[in-house]
Amino acid sequence: MSRLIERLGRLPGLGKRSAERIAFHLLKASPEEAEQLAAAIRQLKARTRQCSTCFNLTEADPCPICADAGRDRSRILVVEQPADVATLEALGTYRGLYHVLMGRIAPLDNVGPGDLTIDALLQRVTRSRKTDQPIEEVIIGTNPTLEGDGTALYLVERLEATGVTISRLARGLAAGSTVETASKAALADALHGRHGMIRPDRAR
Ligand SMILES: [Zn+2]
Repeated sequence: MSRLIERLGRLPGLGKRSAERIAFHLLKASPEEAEQLAAAIRQLKARTRQCSTCFNLTEADPCPICADAGRDRSRILVVEQPADVATLEALGTYRGLYHVLMGRIAPLDNVGPGDLTIDALLQRVTRSRKTDQPIEEVIIGTNPTLEGDGTALYLVERLEATGVTISRLARGLAAGSTVETASKAALADALHGRHGMIRPDRAR
């Protein structure tokens, strides 16, 4: 029991009291219910991997979004974490592709650009622009927090040379809120009202 409480207490957002509550719930639950939870965790680790293109979590590589021929392949929406893709997909209004950074630049937590999937994004954009299906727009959907904004600025610096149009989710998202916690309406507004950060003249 104490081992389970200790393990649960390490999960994000769960303090010791929540961990105790869950452990006591499982103690009272049927063996089937407890086993189903354990099986779901085992399957998550056995089956879930990252898409080698967009880094979203998936059971198949490429993920269903990258593999979907019906999506607009000229747009990439850059988000911090896989949960943001799920939130935006639930809205159903965005039909382009994604790129998951797997975090944000956070010097205080020792997270630098090299710890994120930024180089892979650059390669993705650069490579596509030599094909007949070039990525035309990168929409930066990092959270409107200090670290999210810093990450956005860094992305703009790096992406500028590729000649792609760069935009940012509009400020419908209140400062300090996150993609994951924003209301659906605010998120839809932010997506619709996104604004250009730079619009380079395309030398073509
Ligand atoms: Zn993918």
